[in-house]
Amino acid sequence: MFIHKGRNLDIVNQVEIISPFLKIKADLDKITYGLAVLDLVDKVSQESEKNPNLFVLLISALEALEQLDKNIELFYAAFQLKLMAVSGYLPRFSDCVNCRDKLDDLENLKFSFEGGGILCFNCGTADSFAYNISKDALCVLVELARASRDKIVKIQVSDETLKEISFLTGRYINYHLGSRIKSMEYVEKIKG
Ligand SMILES: [Zn+2]
Repeated sequence: MFIHKGRNLDIVNQVEIISPFLKIKADLDKITYGLAVLDLVDKVSQESEKNPNLFVLLISALEALEQLDKNIELFYAAFQLKLMAVSGYLPRFSDCVNCRDKLDDLENLKFSFEGGGILCFNCGTADSFAYNISKDALCVLVELARASRDKIVKIQVSDETLKEISFLTGRYINYHLGSRIKSMEYVEKIKG
């Protein structure tokens, strides 16, 4: 790729396509998720600032989307968590964000977006905007935050848990990126 330095914006003169991502282009759901991935990466990138971790995350997300035939919604939730990690907002899942007690019993917990993680049963009222989180959803989120593509394909979740995970990761990312993200609304639409 050749970039010419312009007065205000740089001008791209020539590009070479290394990976055409043909399977993404052939599938409307994959296009929608792909656009959401690009949109989110764009939201967290700073102009003229190098961010190799973000670049690696973007490329691996597009490659995963190209290759995955199942669990795309889970993959997208994992991508959102990893994007938050790269941006310094990975939620805390191992202890309560209010009292710091270890979360041994995973029942009756809440997910506080403002607190950036889980509230134990005793601290549930510390954030009145916190959402209930089930034990199953929490366990899958913990796994997704560090799961590779191969592992994500093997994760099995009920429709109910998947819905909960998608809702929580989507809202969490919206909370931290501060604005309603257009392409995420399309993702919500295709999920029905
Ligand atoms: Zn607590």
